[in-house]
Amino acid sequence: MSDPRALYQEVILDHNKKPRNFGVLENANRHAEGHNPVCGDHITLHVKIDGEEVSGISFEGQSCAICKASASMMTGQVKGKTVAEAETLIQEFREMATGKLDVHAQPHHLGRLTVFAGVSELPSRVKCAILPWHTLHAAFKELDNTSTEKDF
Ligand code: ZN
Repeated sequence: MSDPRALYQEVILDHNKKPRNFGVLENANRHAEGHNPVCGDHITLHVKIDGEEVSGISFEGQSCAICKASASMMTGQVKGKTVAEAETLIQEFREMATGKLDVHAQPHHLGRLTVFAGVSELPSRVKCAILPWHTLHAAFKELDNTSTEKDF
């Protein structure tokens, strides 16, 4: 499993078959809807914030495989982190997906999320991968909805 393309395929398939943190979250205190009109992805995030900590997060909605896998992995990565740490991941993921961050050459906190580094070479998929992160940012900012067509 050293081939990044094979790993990417496996991760996407796995998270589509068994999305993590999928569904409604009891006691969530932040909600945001995200829409990517280019592909038709439409997701809703439910987030529970306790003080500075993201203590719970779930997602639901209709989206393509890349968006769903990105949302599934995102929820696993940000749960238990502080809002500030999650915002750092949002920024780094966005820079990786748009090709501004070289995950092999520059420092980052993305961990397993680097399987998505390849989307920077697939312009039509970049927004699919970024949508969940864009939506998480909106939830933190207490915006009810966002779109990949809006500025970050
Ligand atoms: Zn999509």
